[in-house]
Formats: sequence, C-alpha cells, structure tokens
Amino acid sequence: MRPDLFEAPDYYNLDDLFSEEHLLVRDAARQWVKRDVSPIIEEYAQKAEFPKQIIGGLAEIGAFGPYIPEEYGGAGLDQISYGLIMQEIERGDSGVRSTASVQSSLVMYPIFTYGTEEQRKKYLPKLATGEWMGSFGLTEPNHGSNPSGMETKYKDMGDHYLLNGAKLWISNSPFCDIAVVWAKNEEGRIHGLIVERGMEGFTTPETHNKWSLRASATGELIFDNVKVPKENLLPNKSGLGAPLGCLDSARFGIAWGAIGAAMDCYDTALRYAKERIQFGKPIAATQLQQKKLAEMITEITKAQLLAFRLGQLKNEGKATTAQISMAKRNNVEMAINIAREARQVLGGMGITGEYSIMRHMMNLESVITYEGTHDIHLLITGADITGMPAFQ
Ligand SMILES: Cc1cc2nc3c(=O)[nH]c(=O)nc-3n(C[C@H](O)[C@H](O)[C@H](O)COP(=O)(O)OP(=O)(O)OC[C@H]3O[C@@H](n4cnc5c(N)ncnc54)[C@H](O)[C@@H]3O)c2cc1C
Repeated sequence: MRPDLFEAPDYYNLDDLFSEEHLLVRDAARQWVKRDVSPIIEEYAQKAEFPKQIIGGLAEIGAFGPYIPEEYGGAGLDQISYGLIMQEIERGDSGVRSTASVQSSLVMYPIFTYGTEEQRKKYLPKLATGEWMGSFGLTEPNHGSNPSGMETKYKDMGDHYLLNGAKLWISNSPFCDIAVVWAKNEEGRIHGLIVERGMEGFTTPETHNKWSLRASATGELIFDNVKVPKENLLPNKSGLGAPLGCLDSARFGIAWGAIGAAMDCYDTALRYAKERIQFGKPIAATQLQQKKLAEMITEITKAQLLAFRLGQLKNEGKATTAQISMAKRNNVEMAINIAREARQVLGGMGITGEYSIMRHMMNLESVITYEGTHDIHLLITGADITGMPAFQ
C-alpha cells in the first residue's frame, strides 16, 4: 500500500465548531491511524486477520470506553469526541472501528449502564486498557433483524444459571475474553449475561471466507449447558430495550465512522485525479470527474453536519433512536456511494490494494447491514413519522 498522505476535508469549516478538546482527541487519533494502522492494514485485510498488536494503541487514543467515566478506566469524554475517534479509526479501516465500537458501546456500555458496581469494577478497567476484549451476542442463525425471536435461553438452577443456544456474526468472538450475551429466561424475558472464556461448554468458532471486514475477526458464540454464575447477570435493565440501548450508542459511532471512510475515499480520488494525465491533461480537469468529486464533498459535508448536530443532541441526552437511525443510514449509504464513485475515478488502479478504496467499499457492505440493516433503519424512520410500524 502507498504512503498515507491523507488530508481531511473540512469544506464548511467544521473545525470552528469543535472544542479544543475535540480537536486534540481527534488529531491524536488521526496521527495514530497514520502511524500504526495505515502501514499494516492492507496486509492484515488481505490475510483476513485482526492486527492484535494495535489493541494497546486503540486503548491509548481512548477508543475503548471514550465516554465511560475515568474512575472506571474510561476516557471521560463527551459524545462528539467519541464520534470523532470513530471517524478517525474508520478512516483507517471499518474493521478496526468495529472492534472499538463493540468494546465501547456493546460491552462497556451495558456493563456500565445495566451492571452492578462490582461488575463495573471487575470488568471496565481491564476492557478500557484492552487487557480484556469483549464481544456482544445478539444475532442468532434464525433471528437477525428481529432479535426478539431469539432462542438462546437460560434456566435458574438455584446457585447458577444454565445457558444454551448460539449466536452468529459476532465481531471479536474468536479472541474475546468475555461476551455480553442476550438470552431469555424461563418467562421469555430478555436479559444480558456476562460469559467468560474458559467457562465449560462455551466455544467461539471463527467465520471464514468474508469478502468484507477482513481485518476484523467474526465468529459464533456457542453455549452448550454453560454454567454462568448468578453475579454475571446484568440486573438493571431487561427486555429488548436493553440490547437496543447499546445499539443506539454503537450506531451513533457508526454514523461518524462512515464519514471517515468516505473522507479517505474522497481524498484519495481527488489526489489521484489531479495527478493522472489522460488526453494530455489531468482527469481532474474533466467535467465528469469534477462532477463525481464535487458531489462527494457535498455529501460528506451534509453527513458531517448531521453527525455534529446528533452529537450535540446526544450530549444533551436528547438524541432519539429514530434520529440515530437516520444518521447511521444516511451516512453509511453516503460512504458506500462515495467509495463506488471514487473507485471509478482511479480506473483499474482502484481495484488494487495499493489504494484503500476497494477495501473501504467492501467493508461498508457489512457496515450497511450490521447494527440494523439499511432497510430496517428506513422502517424505523417510517414508523417514527407515521406512528405505524411496518416491520411488525
Ligand atoms: C461482519 C458482521 C459483523 C457483525 N457483528 C455483530 C455482532 O458483533 N453482534 C451481533 O449481535 N450481530 C452482529 N452482526 C449481525 C448483524 O447485526 C445482522 O447481520 C443484521 O442485523 C441483519 O440480520 P441478518 O443478517 O440475519 O439479515 P435478515 O434479518 O435475515 O435480513 C435479510 C434482508 O431482509 C430485510 N428485512 C428483514 N426484515 C424486514 C422487514 N420487516 N421488512 C423489509 N425488509 C426486511 C433486511 O433489510 C435484509 O435486507 C454482524 C454482521 C456482520 C455481517
């Protein structure tokens, strides 16, 4: 892969809206991605392996629990800083951002929000440093968009719970130390349980042959009569709203992250178009390529404004699930469209690993599907504005 020459587009001077802290946090993440992610990520994506050596760096830039209070090892930052960290990481690779999203929003968030003080103290500091890595088990082989139908169950055995079932498409599963698993009790109520690697009957086979998110490890979580200690149940919220609360936080991060992928594709295409000579002039001087590039920067700018306003709402505790859905859906679609257009600007070179665009494009095929598919987010907006849910 070529040297990382990334220069971030800021067409509407958004930097003027960010605080000094936002800019410091973002720039630290940006420099780290340039130094530690860009030089190795193509190789790891090609060999379909998560680069475990970057876990310490992710922890150092505050990517594990950015908004978790410092007393539990988090960075104690606001939601806009969280978003900016996700943007910068996904500028490097959506798979790396996925690992950070899962750790922060799908593992640390539920332990912090729904857990006991003992659980917070036991797990959060180790998750914040990356000493322990987590995964989040909601999706099952027969239940993706409709997780309420989940079949994974646990039974009260008096001194412990007995957990049975299987989860599929689980990011970080092959190497996770703990998993936050959503399962039904005997009354059919959904609760979160913390399952630890080493518990008998708990296995995490890897899913191979992915063309997307190749630098992120994905797998299953299988529970065959796993004895889970009673103190591992997250007691402070139950029902589908509990995992959906985690997804709100992760989807918010994705709305920002997708901007990073789009920025990288745009920046790469702009630089290439200025340098590539055809018919005696740079292709950037042609109207057709300018149309592509002008539309890209317009869409990136709109997405940045959407994410920024959503960040303000989230900081005030006012962002709704439907508002988060809209931003996730819009920004991921924006990014995937830009990746496809940017790939064309590079002609044949665009399909090679010399440039990041094709990797972003393939990664975004997962990002548009996970954490609620593109269709489901549209239906969430539809339900919100009409009061008539069409997916039930
Ligand atoms: C790389 C990767 C990593 C993932 N990581 C995790 C993870 O860490 N943890 C986790 O729990 N899950 C994870 N997922 C799972 C992801 O969230 C699901 O794939 C997603 O929710 C969709 O579920 P599904 O794949 O079963 O598709 P389905 O739900 O079967 O959907 C198939 C198609 O039908 C459409 N559809 C479904 N219902 C309706 C409807 N009512 N109306 C109209 N259209 C509909 C969908 O939009 C989609 O196009 C991951 C997935 C991938 C690909």
